[in-house]
Amino acid sequence: TITLAIETSCDETAVAVVKKYEVLSSIVTSQIAIHRPYGGVVPEVASRQHLESINVAIVQALEAAQLNWPEIDGVAATCAPGLVGALLVGLTAAKTLAIVHQKPFVGVHHLEGHIYAAYLANPQLKPPFLCLLVSGGHTSLIHVKDCGIYETLGQTRDDAAGEAFDKVARLLGLGYPGGPEIDRIAADGDPHAFKLPEGKIKQPGGGFHPYDSSFSGLKTAVMRLVGELKQSSDRLPIADLAASFQETVARSLVKRTIACALDYGLETIAVGGGVAANSRLRHLLQEEATHHNLRVLLPPMKFCTDNAATIGCAASEHLSRGHLSSLNLGVRSRMTLTDVMQLYADNSE
Ligand code: ATP
Ligand code: MG
Ligand code: FE
Repeated sequence: TITLAIETSCDETAVAVVKKYEVLSSIVTSQIAIHRPYGGVVPEVASRQHLESINVAIVQALEAAQLNWPEIDGVAATCAPGLVGALLVGLTAAKTLAIVHQKPFVGVHHLEGHIYAAYLANPQLKPPFLCLLVSGGHTSLIHVKDCGIYETLGQTRDDAAGEAFDKVARLLGLGYPGGPEIDRIAADGDPHAFKLPEGKIKQPGGGFHPYDSSFSGLKTAVMRLVGELKQSSDRLPIADLAASFQETVARSLVKRTIACALDYGLETIAVGGGVAANSRLRHLLQEEATHHNLRVLLPPMKFCTDNAATIGCAASEHLSRGHLSSLNLGVRSRMTLTDVMQLYADNSE
């Protein structure tokens, strides 16, 4: 199955051509530089920019794959969750191409794309497995039971991990997006320089929730610490602060992931989402998993952050199972992973 996939849920205009789980081409046109002066993504600007870039990206993806329309088996696009205006650009482009070239159309859940990055780390992967999904808007432990069948076992109660990286980076005066900046600067810092609190969620019956996490307290702790340090000295130990924050987040995530995998008897752990590109998280997870005889799948970094190749992988699997979407499919700003099969409601097996 060869799929052309489009992803425009946030600030990257991405188009890819994949042959099942093999990436034939992957074009990612990032808008980061355009949004940087605002310190975050401006939805209206994002939609306009997708409109500017989408046609070029489609042509480039086909050229790079050295394919033309007769060889394409289906067209896919992210339809939820994300910025409505941004999603609409990609979805409309995909539907139009499906109609013009008479190809099946597949709508894809953005987070299912992040999960499918695991198949680029190992195309032989078979469910069930556990996926630690850590992105700009989500932090979840997902039990992947089959294509389209997901159960969320743990999640953040407040900020997402990527959001925490971005907010703390701003506190430290680093650029946007903050994750890669903190990762880079932390390399020169001492991860044990400052003791920071790991957010824990109290359970009604006593004790702490084993899989849920919290990052807003950690962010506040860094804010207080920065305030105190600024009073006592005129040079902020940015590298030590970044390293200590990153270490705390990585430890918190890895602890919950390993506990969850062991409790549910899931021997394979995959990671996905932008924060899965974090060097400390990758290293610590690999180390702890090996210690517990668990297998870890770390997708290439460029397929952790938003791209269309992973959307194409998920779409190829749905397509091969006859899960097609109606051309009436709309976009949704919010949608849980539990509802993925609703996207194929009219046509599924
Ligand atoms: P979602 O997928 O939840 O809708 P999103 O698509 O905006 O959100 P992604 O593109 O998957 O999120 O990830 C972006 C996030 O990943 C940003 O918060 C960014 O700071 C973070 N990130 C990227 N690289 C790294 C890194 N090396 N270390 C930590 N965080 C990182
Ligand atoms: Mg992004
Ligand atoms: Fe994403």
